[in-house]
Order: sequence, then structure tokens, then C-alpha cells
Amino acid sequence: MRLIYGAPRVVRFFENVLGESRFDKTCSEYTSLLIVSPGIILFVKRVCKRQSAFTTLSECLKILILSPSRAFGTAQYLKFMALILGLETSCDETAAAIVRDGRTVLASELNSQTDIHRKYGGVVPEVAARYHLESVNEVIDLALDKAGVGIHELDAIACTQGPGLVGTLLVGLSAAKAISWVTQKPLLAVDHLYAHICANYIDTDLSPPFICLLVSGGHSQVIHVKAHREWLILGETLDDAAGEAYDKVARLLGLGYPGGPQIDKVARDGDSRAFKFPEGAVKGYDFSFSGLKTAVLRTVEKLEQPLPVGDLAASFQDAVNRVLFRKTHQAAKELGVSKIVLAGGVAANSDLRKRFTQLSEESEIKVFMPALKYCTDNAAMVASCAHFAGVEAGLDCMAYSRQP
Ligand code: ADP
Ligand code: MG
Repeated sequence: MRLIYGAPRVVRFFENVLGESRFDKTCSEYTSLLIVSPGIILFVKRVCKRQSAFTTLSECLKILILSPSRAFGTAQYLKFMALILGLETSCDETAAAIVRDGRTVLASELNSQTDIHRKYGGVVPEVAARYHLESVNEVIDLALDKAGVGIHELDAIACTQGPGLVGTLLVGLSAAKAISWVTQKPLLAVDHLYAHICANYIDTDLSPPFICLLVSGGHSQVIHVKAHREWLILGETLDDAAGEAYDKVARLLGLGYPGGPQIDKVARDGDSRAFKFPEGAVKGYDFSFSGLKTAVLRTVEKLEQPLPVGDLAASFQDAVNRVLFRKTHQAAKELGVSKIVLAGGVAANSDLRKRFTQLSEESEIKVFMPALKYCTDNAAMVASCAHFAGVEAGLDCMAYSRQP
């Protein structure tokens, strides 16, 4: 029998029962369970529901039947990773959240440093790290208070390990390690990009497979998520990320920082057909936004003041969103996947959301997008990700700036 993707405690439980840990892919055969007692059915179903999985359940059941006292005597394993504290400090938001079962947010607190970095036109890493240090304890306390959860009631502590600014990541990671050590609860390391995708599990019944358009300040990817922790990047940006393009064009138009939300706002009063900007001629599911950015710059240089900011913003937004929408839809069609998921800060863009909402209304494709507050960096997505795909980390685990 091979076991996979289990939340660490589930894996540990089966290691105890089986004497070894083996990993495989998710399975949903319940039919063979009918022959065993209701207690065992219930137990195995709960295990499966919580991401643990078996190659053949009948094989697993044989072992459970052979060692029932070990299986049913271990009451704490039935709780698994119900209540997770998530921490996020990868950039300029200090965030803490308590999430139950990966889907229900009991509290999600956030201290944004946007106002501090605005005057520099971008995030200053050392300054960000210092502010995280000042606010991390307060944000954690607020989240615990709001959720009405004591620190020893937590089942696990989850934290963003990377990618991000190493100095800021270390603040969250150190706090998570300290809580894990004091409470003796597992520390779960989470990848920031995968956490953005997992924001879609909050308050929904979403499960893989699906196609995800992940568009943030640092990344633009079309991903085929086949199962929890099993995904394939189909395409990505060859230069600027979509969010980065939004931010740079906003600066060019004198719209301030962060630029994405500003462009979104002024574009509502603009004409998206006023200027014809190129989409970026890249094959397959890849993107390129630097040519588009240069095209906006050249156009602005030729125009007289005051600039038609609304028209420029709407035309730029249209060019970016058109290609994001087309390639994501194309991936879903070509791979025969019936669910599309949006993730990352740019998923908050109202025009992009409108395009995908329309697609879901006009086709069989089901579209998921996080609530606006869970599009940009937050800790609820970290706790959710830990529940579905967290990896138990030791106290010696290190932050990483780029995906390994
Ligand atoms: P990262 O994880 O790379 O730090 P986030 O996921 O927090 O990035 O997203 C931040 C990015 O999202 C920024 O580039 C910002 O401009 C962009 N963004 C946020 N809201 C919107 C919006 N409404 N329209 C377009 N872009 C947006
Ligand atoms: Mg992010």
C-alpha cells in the first residue's frame, strides 16, 4: 500500500500503523468499504477526505483491521489538521489567519505596509523586514483573539517559506518556528505561489483538476493543477509579470503605487478601443508584457499633456486581459478541463473577473476566483494551502527567495 499527500500527522499515523511511509496518488474508491464495519468506513472516509489517499483502500483496510486498537485508539489523529494558524510575510503584508479544515476562515488579520513603501514607489526589503518584526506578534494575537482560539488548541502552524524577500520571510518563519516549538505542534512550510491558488478553496467545494491562471506582482503562469500538490506549468511570462506590467504602466501614467488597482479604477471611465496596443506575439501558453509596456511608453511620449489617462489605462488593461483570458480558456479547452481558477493580485482586476464570469455564464466551464481580500497576499490562503498540501518542516528549515 502506498500513501500520499497526507497532512503530516496522517502520514505519521500510517507510518505508525504500517511501519513505513509510502506515497502515491489520490484514490476515491469507496465501494470496497461496504464489506467492513461502519466504524472503519467512517474512519477511512475521514482520512480520505483530509487528503490522505490509498492505492487500494481494501489493502489499507486489511492493515487497519489487523491493528484496530492502534487505529481507533489514536483519537488525536481523527482531528488531523482541523485548525491551522497561517502566517504570511513574503513581501509587505504582515498577515495571520486561523482556518478550519482548509476552507473556513475563523480570522484573517493583516497589517499592510503599502503606505510606508508608497513614497519609495516600491517595496524596500530592509524596511519591510523591520516593520514585519514590529507587527508580527500583534497580528498573530489579533487573529487568535478574533477566532477565539487558544494557541494550544491549534493543530498546526503554517508559514510561507518562499518565494519572496528572504529578510521578510524569515520574520514569519521564525515566529512560526517559535510557536511550533512552544506548542509542540507541526510546522508546515508553504509555497507562496501555491498558496495563492489555494485561496480558491476558501468557502468553496473546489477540488482539482483545474486550470489556474496565476497572475501576481512577480508571476504570470497558466498551470494545470491535476491533484493537490501535483501540477504542471503550461506557460509563463517570458519577461514582466502581469502585475509588474500594471504597476510600471501606472507609474508611467502618474497613477501611483500600487498601480494595478489604480489602473482598474481609472480604466472604468476610459475607452479600451482608443489605443491599439500589441498583445505580445508569443506562442503556446507563454506571455510577454515588456513590448506592451514599451508601446504604452512610446504612445505617451507622443501625446500632449494632459494625458487621456482613462483611455490609455483601459486600452492597456484590455491588451493584458485579452491575452490572459484567451490563453487560459484555450488551455482548458485543449486539455478538456472543466474548471478554471484565478489566483494572485491581478485576479482582483474587475475587467478580468468580468471576462471569466461571462465565460462561466456562456459555457460549461465553471470558474472560481477568490474574494478580493484573498487575491492579494494574505494568511488565510497559507493556512488553507497547509491543510491541502503542506509539507512538515523542521525547525532548521530556511526561507527561499526563488522557487527551488
Ligand atoms: P506578489 O505575491 O507578487 O507580491 P500579489 O499577489 O500580492 O503579488 O499581487 C500584487 C500585484 O497585484 C500588484 O502588482 C498589483 O498591482 C496587482 N493588483 C492588485 N489589484 C489589482 C487590480 N485590481 N487590477 C490589476 N492588478 C492588481
Ligand atoms: Mg503574492
